[in-house]
Amino acid sequence: MATWHAGCGGGREKGASGWPGLRLVLGLWLIWIVQAIQPLHAHEVDAGAPRGTFHAEAPGTPGGIAEVLDRSQRMRLAALREAEASPEAVEVIRASFNAVMAAWPRAPQVTLLVTRAPVIAESLLGRVIVASEALAGLPEAQRRFVLAHELGHVIEGHWTRMGLLYRKHVPGAVDPEHTQAVAHVLGREASALAHEQELAADAFGLRLILGMGHEVGDALAAFRCFGALPDTATHPGTRKRVAHLHALMASPALSSPTTAAVVGVGPQP
Ligand SMILES: [Zn+2]
Repeated sequence: MATWHAGCGGGREKGASGWPGLRLVLGLWLIWIVQAIQPLHAHEVDAGAPRGTFHAEAPGTPGGIAEVLDRSQRMRLAALREAEASPEAVEVIRASFNAVMAAWPRAPQVTLLVTRAPVIAESLLGRVIVASEALAGLPEAQRRFVLAHELGHVIEGHWTRMGLLYRKHVPGAVDPEHTQAVAHVLGREASALAHEQELAADAFGLRLILGMGHEVGDALAAFRCFGALPDTATHPGTRKRVAHLHALMASPALSSPTTAAVVGVGPQP
């Protein structure tokens, strides 16, 4: 969930699918389900632990679906930690991240991890924002929009809500028979929720950067930068996301930057 992929500055790599991010996002549901039905023998890393602090995981069948989802993202985080970014990129991105965090009145506990990963930005475990060093190559306002979008996922508790949806369909112990039986409907509902969350994060990001004195054009420029992408299992296509931003700007609450600064930037109820 919650991914941006490098497009500007030649940052996008061509993979087997023609777009490595597509392979990633389409595979998320499968990865989670596969992990649910197979014993895991991987290593994971504690999101809050110092770099390089790994915990050996005891082999065995995973417990509830929440544990599986958590493990899935911890494994991804561990893999991302391996890709160290340049100090210069870290400095640029961290400065933007700090500015975005300062624009939110009640900053939550959020960890920023800058890597060389091809996915330009994503949020993991509901508290870690991962940014590719390619983000350092964007103009400041666009970089802030991307980071503010990811902060939106964190602030609005999207990870928790997705976990609740999974638990609704897989309430007890994870077993192959039950998981396979619900996989189709779960996948459909999870995809719908993910799309809803992406648009909500876009709205959050737009409101936040408007409050910082930037313009909707900066958010639109970020989308242009990443190119016209189609719908995926987890993300609405670029056309829908751009149309959503235009619709937000046409709404009375966001029709002027001054109003947006007051209405848009504040804790959610
Ligand atoms: Zn997102």
